[in-house]
Amino acid sequence: MARTSEEISGILKMTRQAFGQRLESEPGLDLFDTEVPPFGPPEPKYADLKSFEQAICACQKCSLGKTRTKFVFGVGDPQAGIIFIGEAPGHNEDLQGEPFVGRAGQLLDKILGAIKLSRQEVYIANILKCRPPDNRDPLPEEMQTCLPYLLEQIKLIKPKLICCLGRVAAQMLLDTKVPLSKLRGRFIDYYGMKLLVTYHPAALLRNPGYKPDTWEDVRMLRREYDRMEGRPAAV
Ligand code: URA
Repeated sequence: MARTSEEISGILKMTRQAFGQRLESEPGLDLFDTEVPPFGPPEPKYADLKSFEQAICACQKCSLGKTRTKFVFGVGDPQAGIIFIGEAPGHNEDLQGEPFVGRAGQLLDKILGAIKLSRQEVYIANILKCRPPDNRDPLPEEMQTCLPYLLEQIKLIKPKLICCLGRVAAQMLLDTKVPLSKLRGRFIDYYGMKLLVTYHPAALLRNPGYKPDTWEDVRMLRREYDRMEGRPAAV
């Protein structure tokens, strides 16, 4: 996805405003085009997820507001230690108002089960809150418009770990064009949280050959979670 320089600077500005700290990439991994200066603590604007959802669920900031059936805010534990981030709602999500409830969602449930987690214990959201018609790719301006909502959710939840499902979520959150193959398999410091990128479940459905790498990624995620919580490794 090619971005214009205005789009890039817009995203950087929003990210700085939202979090106000410097993004760190691992040595040798050239993730970011620009240094993000320190800006203070990442305080959310809203009191909790419920009031935030009420405030934004009738959003008409982009044209997807007119075509959606339901606004897909996110689901799970408001105090989850891990947040999983996908791309955008699909057909089933649009009908039910919940992320990852279709085929890719069923696979995500299995992946969570494999690392001894459930949907209720984590938080699941997308870059976009509304379905792009005919499941087309999200447009850069749609993602740019919607990203602050996700950043506010992250600030309210304060997870220890973020797992980006697929290239679109990862490149958008990290503001980079580095390919998924180079982003996955390592923790990236994201404003004090640890961010891990892995394959999108829909990509696994199309290409089961990605499953062993995905298993390595999510096992790493679970182990780091247990380590952070001072527990023995569950997997
Ligand atoms: N794919 C996504 O990225 N998100 C969903 O909610 C469903 C499918």
